[in-house]
Amino acid sequence: MLCLTAGTAAAAGYALLPSDGAWHLVAYPIIALSCVIAVVAGVRRHRPNQPAVWYSFAAGLGAWLANTVIDQLTATAPWSQLSAGFLIAGYPLLGHALFGLIRGRVRSGDRTTGIDAGIVATSLAVLFWTLVAGDDSLSLLQLLVAAGDIALFALISLLVTTPGAHTASYRLLLTALGLTVFSDVLLMIVPFEPGGPADVIFVLANVLSAAAALHPSMRRLTVPLPQPPGFVRPRLALLTAAILLAPIVSLHQGATGRIADDWLPLGVGSIVLFLLVSARMAGLVLRVEQQARHLSVLVNEDPLTGVANRRRWDERLRTAMDRSAATGEPLVVALLDLDHFKRYNDTHGHQAGDELLTDAATAWLSGLRGDDLLARYGGEEFCVMLTGRTVAEALLIVEHLQTLTPDGQTFSAGLTRWDGRQTAQELLEHADRLLYDSKRSGRARVTAGRPLADAA
Ligand code: GH3
Ligand code: MG
Ligand code: MG
Repeated sequence: MLCLTAGTAAAAGYALLPSDGAWHLVAYPIIALSCVIAVVAGVRRHRPNQPAVWYSFAAGLGAWLANTVIDQLTATAPWSQLSAGFLIAGYPLLGHALFGLIRGRVRSGDRTTGIDAGIVATSLAVLFWTLVAGDDSLSLLQLLVAAGDIALFALISLLVTTPGAHTASYRLLLTALGLTVFSDVLLMIVPFEPGGPADVIFVLANVLSAAAALHPSMRRLTVPLPQPPGFVRPRLALLTAAILLAPIVSLHQGATGRIADDWLPLGVGSIVLFLLVSARMAGLVLRVEQQARHLSVLVNEDPLTGVANRRRWDERLRTAMDRSAATGEPLVVALLDLDHFKRYNDTHGHQAGDELLTDAATAWLSGLRGDDLLARYGGEEFCVMLTGRTVAEALLIVEHLQTLTPDGQTFSAGLTRWDGRQTAQELLEHADRLLYDSKRSGRARVTAGRPLADAA
């Protein structure tokens, strides 16, 4: 927050400097270099799970800084070529950073991001070519810059439509990227002027990038959601808009007399066809998703109690361990076993035993938060996973579950925090040993692992 305020003040001060250019020549490199250093410092302090993404981002900002500084000092060859080299080099560096962020947010390893980026970039390229480049002969450098801007814009639009944590760092970064592209577009319309709108907006984008890297939530930027939504509506809307751009452009060309024959039926026909194909695709995706949900219930739910089964538990525990390793958030598990359940069965009948299991699971669920997990581990044993809570907090929660157990019954439990190194099996074995400590010392109690673990 302090850095953001200081940075925004610096950008505002930059805008108010006397307009003869000399002051800006000094102030710009100082502010922009501080921002690059701040991004690197943010990575070193917060240690995100994909540091390369952030270093690439810092390198991209650094390349553009070098480009602007050289341009302002001299416009003569070979310096101008060096400066153009820095300008061009900035695009793959920032592109690599954005690609890494997008792939980090969805579980990486699929080709979807590349294909979607290709769809948006192709449609923007068609728009650019017909509206801007077709008439005037652009220099190679202008073409490369335009291609770079198109690729960056495509990647930013994908980042916006990628599900993931919308943290402060995420919002700062998106605003910074949006301002960067806006400043670039502005430069196509009005020539560069030190302290002019495009220059000030670019400085502000640098400041916001630095703030995004310094904010602690930057670590969660590349951590995938525990359950990513299967069907991403904003992404489908983006892709539909992208494929409609080309026929819209050709309609515009026809209406302004640049295409002679049949432009109206071709343009309208293409739009209708694309919309119908998109609707068909959305229908297919929705159906596949419904079936996947149905299957997932069959595979992951305990049929008697309706809570997660052991398969689901194993999968969620693995994901939670990955997240905890990446974010440093505590991860606590507890193993619960109903006391004298055999006696309950013998006294009230197996049917009543089944009902107790179901009622207990329902009651315990009511004492947990939405992101906690209750699973049936087997027989009359259940397990609970609590994230972001210390052992002391988790102990209070599980002791509260004890009071919710129906029909005057009790459970014994063992509760422990993952130490960051144990395998899932070792973690549960530890919880199981603690559970048997509870049984041995008289049942109806929760035994927690050494509180020392919280210092880890
Ligand atoms: P302790 O306090 O030591 O845990 O004693 P306990 O009787 O709860 O434990 P024990 O392991 O001796 O017995 C567990 C019983 O749970 C035996 C088994 O018949 C019963 N059980 C396991 N699964 C089910 C089920 O799905 N429904 C019913 N009704 N009973 C079950
Ligand atoms: Mg048991
Ligand atoms: Mg038992």
